[in-house]
Amino acid sequence: MASASLTASPTTARDARLTDSHGRVIHDLRVSITDRCNYKCVYCRTGEGGAQYPELSIEEYLRLIRLFVGLGIAKVRLTGGEPLLRRGLVDLVRELAGLRTLWGQPLELALTTNGHLLDGLAAPLKAAGLSRVTVSMDAVDAATFERITRVPGSFETVLGGIRAARAAGLTPLKINCVLLRGFNDDQIEGFARFAREEDVVVRFIEFMPLEEGRLWSPEIVVTLKEIVERIGRVLPLVELPPREPSETARRYGFRDGAGEIGIIAPVSQAFCGACSRVRLTSDGKIRTCLFSQVEHDLYGRMRGGADDAELSAYIVRTVEGKEARHHIGEPGFLKPSRSMVHIGG
Ligand code: SAM
Repeated sequence: MASASLTASPTTARDARLTDSHGRVIHDLRVSITDRCNYKCVYCRTGEGGAQYPELSIEEYLRLIRLFVGLGIAKVRLTGGEPLLRRGLVDLVRELAGLRTLWGQPLELALTTNGHLLDGLAAPLKAAGLSRVTVSMDAVDAATFERITRVPGSFETVLGGIRAARAAGLTPLKINCVLLRGFNDDQIEGFARFAREEDVVVRFIEFMPLEEGRLWSPEIVVTLKEIVERIGRVLPLVELPPREPSETARRYGFRDGAGEIGIIAPVSQAFCGACSRVRLTSDGKIRTCLFSQVEHDLYGRMRGGADDAELSAYIVRTVEGKEARHHIGEPGFLKPSRSMVHIGG
């Protein structure tokens, strides 16, 4: 593969930034590199379909990501589908790790995975320059976990992946757990203990209406308030200050100082006002919000022969139009045309 240059695409203004019309600075890009997944989590997929959208080549992702970085993106998170399924991932990470932000810093490079293939890939990914990894894990007991993923043996495999990631130095290691009432809300206290025992930051996520089926209702959402109360009853918590204004998770430490949890509460305590993210789907469409009703065909323009300056101008225009906020739970709320696995979580 041709090597990426060590700086991002040129821009005239040193301090150029991607901003939207609501005054938010966008510095975080999530890129789905496949919408295939080897799990069929019951709250995400119906289990009937597989991938629905094409994938770009590794070189094409690289070209598009370099344009974003040239406009002020400082953090890239690779996701999917399941990104570890994607051939060429280690090469992509190596090339991205060579990029510098507009301000001359290395790009912050993270990845979200279900962890199933992490045992074999953690060390090569670290060596290629990946900074951090977030592993999704929705239960701390094997039976519940495998009822959710619908893959026998997946619990032990993911635990092995988590430990391999820690051994490889992909730290701080974050574990994301989506909570659904009646499915896995009995895992909350167990996860709090897991965070301490495994020295990982467990982040609970409120379930959003982004599933393939029709599962979401306000009642199924386990809210931040409820999570804090339940953990606090067994292990007293103290709220910690955010590390940065656009941090999605509210942070809590245990009162005895050992361990940390986070809660991402897009439903009960939406953080759209501080959103710093846009997404690129596996088929090269920009989504300016998880709940966007429109997608912006960046790849289509690239295939049509647009040069880097034209593509960059298109990115700037598209980001300007980012939605002010989502409307989960409001009358007239419309689910987006793609579910989470096909957008890139
Ligand atoms: N396969 C990778 C993984 O499992 O982390 C990356 C893609 S997955 C879609 C990214 C994250 O989105 C996972 O943590 C998953 O639990 C979460 N997720 C999926 N559907 C969701 C929903 N409806 N609401 C909130 N989070 C969801």
